[in-house]
Amino acid sequence: MKASLEFLPIFLREHLARHPRAGLPAIESKEGGVVYASWRKLLGQIEGLDYDALTIASERLIVEPASDKKHFTALAAFAAEVVLAKEAAKRGGKPRQDLSTHEGSKAASLGCERCHGGGLVTVFRRPPVPERCPPAVAAHCVCAMGRWMRRRLEAQDPVLARRVVDLDLVLRGPSDWVVDPEFERAPY
Ligand SMILES: [Zn+2]
Repeated sequence: MKASLEFLPIFLREHLARHPRAGLPAIESKEGGVVYASWRKLLGQIEGLDYDALTIASERLIVEPASDKKHFTALAAFAAEVVLAKEAAKRGGKPRQDLSTHEGSKAASLGCERCHGGGLVTVFRRPPVPERCPPAVAAHCVCAMGRWMRRRLEAQDPVLARRVVDLDLVLRGPSDWVVDPEFERAPY
């Protein structure tokens, strides 16, 4: 059964207000008409999608922003996850997004714009790079998978865990590390 998406116009108004910097076209514009017609088509393929699931996905994009180009794919991926988790919970099964497990964390992070579910991202040393300091290292991502990996490492090897850069701290800054390299030469 396909979603009827009667709620889409209301959702779109709220979604655009929620993401003013996402580069989304105005609903009434010519471009908006084309873009949102394709959104309707693609979202209609997510079985069981409702207003609540789509709103949860939209809100998740605030804390896990996607680039303008990937905005819709992230929204759709998040929404599909919410629907799946809801259905699993209804069946009495373990929700797919049990974030205490590796599997659940991975499933919840597949739409992560930064690590695509791998849990690790590359961060770059803010120039000037000190001697004997690597110009780029892996950091634990801010998504569920990155958090799961960091929690596990903290439990297994707290000393090592402290040495692995935490993207959360980098993003909150100021930090010795940055997400985008500020130098032209490739780090590797
Ligand atoms: Zn991630």
